[in-house]
Amino acid sequence: MITPIADVATAIDQILDSATADPIENGQKTLEINGDDPFQFVVAWGEEHSRRELEPELLNPKSRECFCDWAKWAGEEALNVSDHTQAGVLRRRSKAHLFSASCGPEPCSENFADMLALAELLTSSHLCTLNLPGSGASGPQHFHTQIMPLSLRDAGKQVPNQIHRLLDNIKAKPNGMTLDSGVVICELDSPVWGVRLEFPKTMSASQIGKKLFSSVHQGIRYGSQLRLSYNVYVRWNVRPRVVDVTIRSSAHECPFLGIDTKAAIENVRWRWGWLECIGGLPARSAAFADSSVYDHHFWQRVYSRMTLTNDIKQSVLNRISELLI
Ligand SMILES: [Zn+2]
Repeated sequence: MITPIADVATAIDQILDSATADPIENGQKTLEINGDDPFQFVVAWGEEHSRRELEPELLNPKSRECFCDWAKWAGEEALNVSDHTQAGVLRRRSKAHLFSASCGPEPCSENFADMLALAELLTSSHLCTLNLPGSGASGPQHFHTQIMPLSLRDAGKQVPNQIHRLLDNIKAKPNGMTLDSGVVICELDSPVWGVRLEFPKTMSASQIGKKLFSSVHQGIRYGSQLRLSYNVYVRWNVRPRVVDVTIRSSAHECPFLGIDTKAAIENVRWRWGWLECIGGLPARSAAFADSSVYDHHFWQRVYSRMTLTNDIKQSVLNRISELLI
């Protein structure tokens, strides 16, 4: 049975509006590292959580766990947004997930249309973000996205949380290119390079989702034979029709592999996802508490490993422009 999308949005808004804890802190210690430029990294550390540090080739039960088993591990039924997409509301974490209705394994155009259609209806302060294998996903190749609160309830008021502040790290270059279709493309200058796509008012949210699928998922991810990966950020209630996409090499999904981290940290296979791309670092290791060693310069060096070459950046811009013309 399909749940009307407006009802799904209402259920998610209720959960996001009731968040009282900062999702990035989640009971852990945090350390803010500010550089000379107006850039902020937030490092959180606490209990070991190995899921995103597992080597998928070892076929561990946790690394094989997929969202199709939502009811089993979330303890409640998922809602059917469409024939292709389900929504799971995670009350204890004050967030929601969207995922493929069946073991795909690949995302499809309708998943992206549903994601944007839902984002348009949410009234709470929210972020819709997409992780995929090669860009930080902790599960098998599927469409899966998270819908996070960007504020928390404190003394009866809604105040911005850490993720909200980290999103300010994403900066677009001022001179965008306007295509014949009315789509505007700007380069992103976040620690991880990317593009900001602003879609015209003549396009519906679902149409925007389908365009995002054909230009970024098919055009860039499939076009590069999966060597390029991406994360998507949508805050429709703040910037309607604007989609930020950070793009990097799948080979650098674990940026610590092959880098001198100055200490024998255990989570060298840490797969970096959407949160790390904007400067949120749930390090899970107390070693990172030493900000004299793991300083701003250190983190900048790690990010520089993930930065695409100028040739590749230009190819990405050309390909997306061709597909959105
Ligand atoms: Zn599955």
